[in-house]
Amino acid sequence: MALSTPGPRALLKRLREVMAEPLEPQQRLDKIVKNIAANMVAEVCSVYLLRADSMLELFATEGLNPSAVHQTSLPIGQGLVGLIAATTRPLNLPDAQSHPSFAYLPETGEEIFKSFLGVPILRGGRMLGVLVVQNQNSRTYNDMEIEALETTAMVLAELIIAGNLHDMANEGMALDLSNPHTVRGLSLSDGLAYGHVVLHEPRVVVTNLFNESADIEHQKLHDALGELRISIDDMLARGDLAKEGDHRDILEAYRMFANDRGWVRRMEEAIQNGLTAEAAVEKVQGDNRARMMRINDPYLRERLHDFDDLAHRLLRKLMNENPIRDGLQLPERAVVLARHMGAAELLDYPREHLIGLVLEDAGPTSHVVIVARALGIPVVTQVVGVVSMAENNDPVIVDGEEGSVLVRPAQDMVHVYKEKIEFRAKRFAQYSKLAQRPAISKDGIEISLNMNAGLLVDLPQLEASNADGISLFRTELQFMVAARFPRPSEQELLYKEVMESVGDKPVTFRTLDVGGDKILPYLRLTAEENPALGWRAIRLALDRPGLLRTQIRALLKAAGNRKLRLMVPMITDVSEMHEVRSLLDHERSLMAKFGHAMPSHIELGAMIEVPSLLFQLDELMQVADFVSIGSNDLFQFMFASDRGNSKVANRYDPLSHAFLRALKNIVDAGNRHDTPVTLCGEIAGRPLSAMALMGLGFRSFSMSPASIGPVKAMLLGLDVKSLQDKFLSMLDASIADGQTIRELLIDFAETNGIPY
Ligand code: PEP
Ligand code: MG
Repeated sequence: MALSTPGPRALLKRLREVMAEPLEPQQRLDKIVKNIAANMVAEVCSVYLLRADSMLELFATEGLNPSAVHQTSLPIGQGLVGLIAATTRPLNLPDAQSHPSFAYLPETGEEIFKSFLGVPILRGGRMLGVLVVQNQNSRTYNDMEIEALETTAMVLAELIIAGNLHDMANEGMALDLSNPHTVRGLSLSDGLAYGHVVLHEPRVVVTNLFNESADIEHQKLHDALGELRISIDDMLARGDLAKEGDHRDILEAYRMFANDRGWVRRMEEAIQNGLTAEAAVEKVQGDNRARMMRINDPYLRERLHDFDDLAHRLLRKLMNENPIRDGLQLPERAVVLARHMGAAELLDYPREHLIGLVLEDAGPTSHVVIVARALGIPVVTQVVGVVSMAENNDPVIVDGEEGSVLVRPAQDMVHVYKEKIEFRAKRFAQYSKLAQRPAISKDGIEISLNMNAGLLVDLPQLEASNADGISLFRTELQFMVAARFPRPSEQELLYKEVMESVGDKPVTFRTLDVGGDKILPYLRLTAEENPALGWRAIRLALDRPGLLRTQIRALLKAAGNRKLRLMVPMITDVSEMHEVRSLLDHERSLMAKFGHAMPSHIELGAMIEVPSLLFQLDELMQVADFVSIGSNDLFQFMFASDRGNSKVANRYDPLSHAFLRALKNIVDAGNRHDTPVTLCGEIAGRPLSAMALMGLGFRSFSMSPASIGPVKAMLLGLDVKSLQDKFLSMLDASIADGQTIRELLIDFAETNGIPY
């Protein structure tokens, strides 16, 4: 294990002394380069630091012309130093001048030095500058020397961050300690946020860099690695993980990495060069992160990502740090960054501080995203590597409109976004002014605008948006954010709180809609090949009626003497409505027998989400007290396009003939039977689609509370009758002249000055 290189150890020892001496920052830097040059038997050692204008300025040198210090600078990408900065890779050249990137800088007098070794100065994946040694004779530096220079660069990075080097740069330029980093991803919740980073998994800060004894540190490293391997083996051995494919794969990969000789060897070398075990882990992690930034291949990035995660665990073990965040002081405007996160964990953050969420990996229907949407904060996901690039308290912008994250944004970007945020706030202030205006169209037609909800955090929005009621309360969300089945008493409590908080306004509870993409981790369902078409929602509830019975009882008890409205998801055949009704009647009579107060009135509705119902509309309208169209699912099933798969989700247009005709059939059937029809999918909340729906005859909608303002603004400018008169001919005309319905609607809106 022990590699005998006294050189780097002696150098680190010397640097440590220099750092402890009472010196001015420039003097300290000068002394450092002198020591490095002497230790590495190099004629030159120079430090270039990155300024805020993206120029690399010569900050200190031993061996080059001293008058070039603070005078010589070159942009990222230019010259050998610029190339190292751009690639964040070491450059080892026996004949520097024959390299195509060599740039001749006469003021430095470097032309006499043939060999060149340069390494990036990195910290937390950020590039702060470049450290170079040069020799007159032509030689190739060996791996040990590269390693030693990298270790020295790591120590220098600490000095740069801690030392007052800021105002030393030429022409008063600031050093670029920010390193803006923009990552594009996928927006899962609209909005804009400018705030400060809170790492969900707190970063371990290594403060003890230099070791006293390499042997002790080797031992510490190997003990921690041993513990790490055992903990991974333990997790793998746990029976409950056996079936969970993804988890298992990740752990298997971790086990492989934990035994990776290359990784362990690089950490051993860093210890041998004088670092503590934890600093060695951090150094190797830093190199990995720099590699991660360069790699485009998603698979390789993911692997390096796993290494990063593993290094984190190892650091925590070495420093006895608990991952649980306690006593963390949250910034005023907190943007939480995480790789993965549970919904309940998000709710642990105080609402008043939380303004944005960035997740490296989360699907649109993951629970944490659902909760974040309910909280009304922007969410961007599929931004691999962003957690490694950021540090607590870094400024950050989350752009939920474009789907990007800007870590440590440049000042001009901050300026642009501040304006955008202000503009958005003004628009929302206008919408909130509309809240008190009745939802009546220009020609006097009243439209019922309701909101969707599912958690207690949603409820204050009822008053703020002045919605007419809650036409979709997704009861599964309580189940999805919990770690186990909510007890009957907990279910009852939630329903009661909801009913109490809505007062006189109506609320419609949807019975448990689990399965498909709505997964309860504690409900073990057998793996299905096509879960969206599988054993889910009402199918599961009717086969295992215990769950539904418990829920119905909780709802009946919570309602007391109030009116109760229930609706059933994923009805596929009218007979299922009969089954639910008889189950409901049974529970009702049982409870009445035990003397419980009974709701004054119960209404049972069906959700239209499965196309088979389109051919049973007359029967359905007779058995249901009301129907609600779940257009998200109805669309995915009609067009055979997975709502959660971004490759197909936006391929077809909900404002297409096929879909609009289907919706028209439903409204017409509702009118024929006097059965109220509402629509609660996402399209209800988009002004242009809501306008189309009004043209088809819809008069009731349910949507996310944030959509009520924009839809109402559209409605206030709309003459529903004149749209309706034109709408059917519009549908036909669009086929004839090749114009899409969307284009025709936009024409209509623009001609009539309707905001859409
Ligand atoms: C729908 O499918 O449109 C709907 C409202 O239900 P969910 O989005 O919860 O599946
Ligand atoms: Mg649905």
